[in-house]
Amino acid sequence: MIGGGIVGSAIAHRAAEAGLAVTLLERERIGSGATAISGGIVRSYHDDPLVASRAALGNARYRDLARAPGGDCGYRATGLLYFDAGAPLHAMRNAVRRLDPSGDLALEAIGADEGRRRFGAFRWDDVAGAVHEPYGGYVDPVRASRAFAHAALAHGAQVWEGTRALRIVVADGVVRAVETSFGTIAADAVIVAAGAWSAALLRDAGVDLPLRTRRVQAFIFALPAPDAIPCAFYDATTGVYGRPHAGGQYLIGFPVLEWDVDPDAVAPVDPDGLDALRDAVLRRLHHDPTREPRGGRCAFDAYEPAERGIAGATGIGGLFVATGWSGGGVKAAPAAADEILELLRACAPC
Ligand SMILES: Cc1cc2nc3c(=O)[nH]c(=O)nc-3n(C[C@H](O)[C@H](O)[C@H](O)COP(=O)(O)OP(=O)(O)OC[C@H]3O[C@@H](n4cnc5c(N)ncnc54)[C@H](O)[C@@H]3O)c2cc1C
Repeated sequence: MIGGGIVGSAIAHRAAEAGLAVTLLERERIGSGATAISGGIVRSYHDDPLVASRAALGNARYRDLARAPGGDCGYRATGLLYFDAGAPLHAMRNAVRRLDPSGDLALEAIGADEGRRRFGAFRWDDVAGAVHEPYGGYVDPVRASRAFAHAALAHGAQVWEGTRALRIVVADGVVRAVETSFGTIAADAVIVAAGAWSAALLRDAGVDLPLRTRRVQAFIFALPAPDAIPCAFYDATTGVYGRPHAGGQYLIGFPVLEWDVDPDAVAPVDPDGLDALRDAVLRRLHHDPTREPRGGRCAFDAYEPAERGIAGATGIGGLFVATGWSGGGVKAAPAAADEILELLRACAPC
């Protein structure tokens, strides 16, 4: 396993639990990369069926992990509202039935009048309603990564922090080993889950995936009262998302269209981004949290054209990839782990 962010750690856990001999290589500490500063929002309602099913599985797994001894992942079910201006209420209701046939996720489509009564902090004028996810909320992505890595260790995995994978060794179309900063490790299978660094590693191994890096930024704000904005939200009309944050604060993120950033040279949070954020936020919230900024977080993620994330084979025997999570890798990580495990089980050279 190359990369001990949330995705690599989740895969290492699943593979070790399934009895495979796993070595997890992380050049810094477990939970670095995008994971280190991620908003960690977990929500299940998505247009894309693959993203939705991955997210639903992720939500259930984090809930289980939070209950397991030693599995502290900082999961908080704050509840989450998904707003989509174009969607009529009956379409939301149909989507809820499709995505949550057994009711495990307790998704509910609520009309704008009910929304105003129950969630008065939000503006409902431009929507027919919203989808409410009671189990939506967030995890602490660093704690979750470390919980996965600890669970992997308990199943016999090796976790090598401070170890950089330098080169994937391929011969006769099959992966053979990984050269690391602490020597060469023979491997029947190699999984690249190195986030924004994945493209370069794969290119050196002869695999060219259409991956790009993109800046991702979120701000943190003080609230006049801890429950002034009582739940998390995602606004599909603007791409703005937010969630309660520790200390009576609130985190809000906004899409930044800055592509091909160098993951080793991340710019600090750009305070100018507050102006664009304010306009979008005030379309959904009555309260203007941007009057009291308390800093923020800025990093990058690996994006792929479909913006779903790739958990798959590469064409080289035994070489797999789990990256391109396009701003949603925390919620997708447990599903990515399941998908990679299936591929490992079916892998001839492994
Ligand atoms: C500000 C922000 C907010 C976000 N909010 C959300 C959200 O609310 N919900 C959500 O689901 N997602 C969110 N995301 C996206 C999510 O955080 C990422 O998709 C996810 O963390 C990616 O995880 P990863 O493990 O694929 O990559 P990363 O977390 O980037 O991990 C890659 C790891 O590989 C290691 N590595 C790299 N090269 C090597 C090498 N050669 N050898 C060994 N190790 C190596 C790195 O050190 C790093 O630890 C957000 C991202 C940001 C930046």
